[in-house]
Amino acid sequence: MYNRRKFIKVSAAGASLAALSRSAVAETLAQTADAKFPIVISTWDFGIVANKEAWKTLEKGGRALDAVEAGVKIPEADMKNHTVGRAGYPDRDGHVTLDACIMDDFGNCGSVAAIEHIAHPVSVARLVMEKTPHVMLVGEGATQFAVEQGFKKEKLLTPESEKAWKEWLKTAKYSPVINIENKQGIPGNQYNHDTIGMLAIDAKGNLSGACTTSGMAFKMHGRVGDSPIIGAGLYVDNEVGGATSTGVGEEVIRNVGSFLVVELMRQGYSPEDACKEAVKRIIKKKPETAKQIQVGFLAINKKGEYGAYAIQSGFSFAVCNAEQQDLLIKGKSIY
Ligand code: ASP
Repeated sequence: MYNRRKFIKVSAAGASLAALSRSAVAETLAQTADAKFPIVISTWDFGIVANKEAWKTLEKGGRALDAVEAGVKIPEADMKNHTVGRAGYPDRDGHVTLDACIMDDFGNCGSVAAIEHIAHPVSVARLVMEKTPHVMLVGEGATQFAVEQGFKKEKLLTPESEKAWKEWLKTAKYSPVINIENKQGIPGNQYNHDTIGMLAIDAKGNLSGACTTSGMAFKMHGRVGDSPIIGAGLYVDNEVGGATSTGVGEEVIRNVGSFLVVELMRQGYSPEDACKEAVKRIIKKKPETAKQIQVGFLAINKKGEYGAYAIQSGFSFAVCNAEQQDLLIKGKSIY
């Protein structure tokens, strides 16, 4: 966190620069913050390796947008990760359908939902943002667009995922397990979910974010969670900060979670308090449901301060900056 002297310096700089352009202000803030930037944060333990990849771009002075895309592609490609990308568990009909979105410092955003056969949905989301007049493409249309853009159509269902799905079909009982990352490796546990949500501030002080997941394992075919929904799974406002979410997406969508966190930060909440308030909102609306599920929010503000909060214990997030590349922090929780 900032010490008082640095904070005063930043506030004063902000006030006197009100008339300057957005990027000039951002750059000045970055300089006055004394190497607080660049910084990248992301959800869960797998955020550590993802952050390290994002850091390669950030430390060279690269753009946060490029950093978050490169970063989240690591878990997307990880064959041992069954909750993000190509090795993600399929839906109840055996289809691996992926959700992802990306948002930059200008408020540009792109998203794909329920895309099949494409290993890096976040990169397709970026091209939706950059090359189409739209924000979101879904299902077959998203796959068609990806192929037109030169992505390879692949079979994503791995033998391991197929085995887990066939095991699940024996009972076909759908019940997402809380905090799957603590339970990986336990035989018979196939009901998992988790998302990588990543937020970065580059050396110029500009923010971007990305979010990607295979969603809830064995979900209904066509189900879309919060992760590709701008405002739910991810939101970035370069004047205020960014937020991302993980956990049972339906509850996040109902509360437009990430947008809510950013708006609370705009009102003066710290990142952690904003995440806590959003979690409390979810619990208040459905207290009985909330006891059974996990939802976690992660946020960063324009000053580079970050925080997280979850319904259940066990939520972790990774932080990477010039001082430390592999910091893992336990998020606080209500229960
Ligand atoms: N939020 C994701 C979804 O609902 C899953 C997760 O992050 O656990 O699809």
